[in-house]
Amino acid sequence: MVIGIIGAGASGMAAALAASQNPNVQVILFERQARVGRKLQATGNGRCNLTNLHALEGGYHGQDADFAQPALQALPPERTLDWFRSMGLFTVAEESGRVYPYSDQANSVVDVLRLALNKENVTLRTGFEVRRLRKECEGFLVEGSEETVFCNKIIVACGGLAGTKLGGSMSGYQLLGKLGHRSTRLRPALVQVKCAWPGVSALKGVRANARVQICRDGECIRESTGEVQFTEYGLSGPVIFEVSRDMCRGDVAVLDLLSQWEEEVLYGELKRRQKTALPVEELLTGILHNRLGRVLTKTAGVRCSGLVSELSDKDLTDVCRTVKALEITLTEPLGMDSAQVTAGGVLTGDFCPDTMESRLVPGLYACGEVLDIDGDCGGYNLQWAWSSGYCAGSHGGKETT
Ligand SMILES: Cc1cc2nc3c(=O)[nH]c(=O)nc-3n(C[C@H](O)[C@H](O)[C@H](O)COP(=O)(O)OP(=O)(O)OC[C@H]3O[C@@H](n4cnc5c(N)ncnc54)[C@H](O)[C@@H]3O)c2cc1C
Repeated sequence: MVIGIIGAGASGMAAALAASQNPNVQVILFERQARVGRKLQATGNGRCNLTNLHALEGGYHGQDADFAQPALQALPPERTLDWFRSMGLFTVAEESGRVYPYSDQANSVVDVLRLALNKENVTLRTGFEVRRLRKECEGFLVEGSEETVFCNKIIVACGGLAGTKLGGSMSGYQLLGKLGHRSTRLRPALVQVKCAWPGVSALKGVRANARVQICRDGECIRESTGEVQFTEYGLSGPVIFEVSRDMCRGDVAVLDLLSQWEEEVLYGELKRRQKTALPVEELLTGILHNRLGRVLTKTAGVRCSGLVSELSDKDLTDVCRTVKALEITLTEPLGMDSAQVTAGGVLTGDFCPDTMESRLVPGLYACGEVLDIDGDCGGYNLQWAWSSGYCAGSHGGKETT
């Protein structure tokens, strides 16, 4: 039996390894790029956050997020790590549950997968873009630009639209669409958001710890504490990533940039500084990032020239309030180019969650980001890719025709 797997990213490589455990199966892995795992190599800022130890506790989204559970339970994070260990990968877990290769290099993850795929019953066809899939009575015709290959079964592991420069494309949705599978609306997720605060461009590159509340129509809809990064256009960082999936124009991020201290503590310190010969532009020096301190002082409406001793108590109160509750209006998320994952995808209701097989076309499977499942920031998306790929590969490879 020949299984064709379309896409040699995270889920496609997991599927190929699982399917090839059956020595009677011939696996052909089609990849349109020149090498395997190109996006994987860029994950986690080049460190690859390959899973999260809390991935079974939730953190997945989609019209039916529970669809992900059977595959995740069959290959949970600990078993995934054992599996990688059996391929020779050493890993290290952070307190947050995020797991990285011990080498701190995403390359290590790609390398162990690439080496493990070096098997007699796996054929790697890089530079092969699948343009069309046609159902035949005994299987499928896989059409490339110059060649058509017959496979008894097919696993579509083409990934999503996010990260277009790294290979994200519409391909998977289109191939499955032609076979009758519908998709939900696609949106960029885990992505920076633009904002309408003039201070932001001066803060490009600054990172700060903050408690962030996202407010809509005056109500807090989400709250989290962590690192916020200021970018040329707006805000980034894990907390912001989380809201990017379903943010609306006009949502307000309220940042407490000194969340470990009460406002009175900050006020007391500024009152102490009022008795010194400190210039106003140094008002928050030693407390916050220098650039952030200056921008916040200005945002509070305090003139940045002169001495702190010349400031009024109201000036100090205004600065404290700005530090503890900086309001930034969000306008829109950046596009698919910059997104780490696609929210939305091929409707999961048309697939069996225990096997990843299509309910519409027997012998057709799908896994990874192409399906309408996306995870939180922190290793959840790759865990879904490993689990769903492994599930599709082991079930596709089990039966013989
Ligand atoms: C910058 C960035 C950083 C990220 N960091 C993390 C992280 O640290 N942790 C985490 O959990 N997630 C992270 N993600 C998300 C994660 O990388 C993806 O969710 C995951 O790679 C999806 O796996 P996949 O196999 O479904 O798709 P992909 O890994 O995208 O693989 C799909 C493959 O299919 C190929 N392909 C597509 N169409 C065709 C075709 N027609 N013919 C042949 N080949 C085709 C593509 O070239 C690609 O190689 C990150 C994403 C990005 C963009």
